[in-house]
Amino acid sequence: MNATPLDLAAAFTERFGTEPDGLWSAPGRVNLIGEHTDYNDGFVLPFAINQSTTVAAAVRQDRLVRVASTFAPDEAPVTADLDTLEEGGVQGWAAYPIGVLWAMEQAGHRCPGLDLLVDSSVPVGAGLSSSAALECSVAAAVNDLGELGVSLRELATIGQLAENRMVGAPTGIMDQSASLLGEVGHAVFLDCRSGDSRLVPLDLEGAGLELLVIDTRVSHAHSTGGYAARRRSCELGAELMGVPALRDLSVKDLAEAAGVLDEETFRRVRHIVTENARVEDAVRVLTSGGPADLGSLLVASHASMRDDFEISCAELDTAVDAALDAGAIGARMTGGGFGGAAIALVRADDAAAVRSSVEGAFASAGFRAPVIFGVLPGAGAARTA
Ligand code: ADP
Ligand code: MG
Repeated sequence: MNATPLDLAAAFTERFGTEPDGLWSAPGRVNLIGEHTDYNDGFVLPFAINQSTTVAAAVRQDRLVRVASTFAPDEAPVTADLDTLEEGGVQGWAAYPIGVLWAMEQAGHRCPGLDLLVDSSVPVGAGLSSSAALECSVAAAVNDLGELGVSLRELATIGQLAENRMVGAPTGIMDQSASLLGEVGHAVFLDCRSGDSRLVPLDLEGAGLELLVIDTRVSHAHSTGGYAARRRSCELGAELMGVPALRDLSVKDLAEAAGVLDEETFRRVRHIVTENARVEDAVRVLTSGGPADLGSLLVASHASMRDDFEISCAELDTAVDAALDAGAIGARMTGGGFGGAAIALVRADDAAAVRSSVEGAFASAGFRAPVIFGVLPGAGAARTA
């Protein structure tokens, strides 16, 4: 939809009959490297993107929440009463924004009633976390309007709680952390055990690079079951190796693991252990060199997900191979796997060739045409008007 801020304020007034008190935006994210490491207490390196969700919000005098979206222009606002709202009490898309208010109160922060109108430029379901963008825009709005003074780090856990308990999706803390803590020209290095994070320079434009997202537009039916099975394998691997989480194993422990674990569990464990090491290597590369040196880490990450963790699929492998064939510096699938998106790091001069190589490979394979677009490391959540 992409209404401009002015449009959204006008649309709010049309919907609710009052002017909004302000507008708050929060971005989607791309995970540069560190896949399935989050629930193993490991490391991830996402960045906030330059596409975001914006919410226009106004405080009410009662404890009602009314929420509408430009994605559903003909739908009446979904209403909830903060005094009687229960876990799982809202269905559909409104569970994300209303869930944030519920989670805020669960964490002990009393919220005012609010009217909310949401708009977004983050593609939904493309692996860019439109869900976290939505949660974090609302979290930022209620934090300001209620003068709650909640830290960004706690807001991330509140967004996660909303998604886990009101929506019912078992997601980690990465997406909300990137959306809240991201900064222009930076990635967010996040330790999923401690919750500590720090910004790492990721100046793609300055390095003459572009990062292409290749949305395969496929979602394979076994993705939910596959995700659960991978989590179980990781838990089993940690248990058999006698560590609290796979985070506690290093690459030099793999020789021992090969003797202890069955062949499949070993490969699952090897992906997590080597992926954590690759995230740390990526941080070093970005700190001491620059993004042009990331290529081999991205390629190794994809091979590990394809061969050891077995979460890739024909469309993702085709996207990665075709991008590399056309001169991409590096490419990998990103997100949970079994469909979704791949990323390709390319020199700006090669971007057109990489795009057409991927499109051509998809056409030859008989796949549905992918959607390909560039993203840049953008700003985290903020009040915008
Ligand atoms: P992703 O986060 O990868 O985009 P999810 O399935 O986690 O995909 O979240 C997408 C869901 O979030 C949508 O199906 C919808 O329920 C909700 N959503 C995201 N953005 C909006 C929006 N602007 N308006 C209404 N609902 C939205
Ligand atoms: Mg999501």
